[in-house]
Amino acid sequence: MTTPVLVYYDTRMLGHNPHGWDPGHPAWTDAVKAMIALQFPGSNLETYSHPERPDRLTAIVDRLMLDPIEGVRWMLPTAASTAQLKQAHDKTYVAHIESLEGESCWLAQDTTAVSPGSVDAAHLAAGAGISAVEAISAGEAQKAFCIVRPPGHHAHSDHASGFCLYNNLAVTAAHARENLGYQRVMVWDWDMHHGNGTQEIFYSDPSVLVVDSHCAAPFYPGSGLLYETGAGAGVGSQINCPLPLGSGNAALLKVFDEVVKPAAKAFQPDILLVSSGFDCHYLDMTCAMDETGFAILAQCMSELADELCDGRLVLLLEGGYNAQALTDSVHAVMKVLAGNPVNACNVLPDDPGCKAVADAVQFHQGPINPACRAKGHS
Ligand SMILES: [Zn+2]
Repeated sequence: MTTPVLVYYDTRMLGHNPHGWDPGHPAWTDAVKAMIALQFPGSNLETYSHPERPDRLTAIVDRLMLDPIEGVRWMLPTAASTAQLKQAHDKTYVAHIESLEGESCWLAQDTTAVSPGSVDAAHLAAGAGISAVEAISAGEAQKAFCIVRPPGHHAHSDHASGFCLYNNLAVTAAHARENLGYQRVMVWDWDMHHGNGTQEIFYSDPSVLVVDSHCAAPFYPGSGLLYETGAGAGVGSQINCPLPLGSGNAALLKVFDEVVKPAAKAFQPDILLVSSGFDCHYLDMTCAMDETGFAILAQCMSELADELCDGRLVLLLEGGYNAQALTDSVHAVMKVLAGNPVNACNVLPDDPGCKAVADAVQFHQGPINPACRAKGHS
């Protein structure tokens, strides 16, 4: 049976198109070139300027048009308002980003920059998650996927980093909690990079439980160690699972089975959010997942949402830079959200991530249980 899936997308998000070369900062340009040379070895470094580029989204949309999925309903997001952004971000920072409308400049040495259309794009990317949770709250559907850029999970409360301007997921979670009555929000960030911005924003907040599986430090951004478990009332509400390079489907499924699922059952969330990057795909950088693995993760999260929170599940696009990997993965995930089951995926018998997940489970035996305490605080 087909399940409706709300898919949020707006072509104005293509207007975020910063140029990677900054003549004023040759070292920054060199850093971008080094990143591109690593991720896209065949690229012409004179013409190919930024890995986080508009055609990531057009490739996804083209694929969904060529191979449509029954149940998908295309939706236009409403741009996030200043007040909505300030629920997750420092007001001075929001004012700074808004002041850059129409400008081109760099915000962080790690290749984060804006072009004249970036501020509009960033407000729409953050607003897509809000639009999704509002529609779900109104009973229009239970599942949503936000095809957005710039991505969000590296954006901190008061500064940009890692291609991210606003933390789209954090803005969404804050809105769900502050304005829609959801007392407990649970997040799984399965992007290959640690969601350091999301961690920072909710580090002391027991009402948002964050599980983050990612390539371990010193891989970018270098945070997300096991012992980073939250602070104050939020102790136990950040659960990091650092993984070795080469981790694949087996490792991520183990994260779901042994970390996400038990933590969710203890926490009893009102809604599930996913920072859904696809850079763990074997065609992308240094991990070994494939599109079927992502489909199974989506199926697991969908079933968990059905069991715990009336099916409420919103995925927000984060990273994923190889067009083939990105389009295959998003399409496979969207099919699952629309109710098409996937039964099996390729599992490497010697997946190097499994040992790391077992270590994380052992470490978090205590902190997973304290996450229950969040119920008492909400
Ligand atoms: Zn990433």
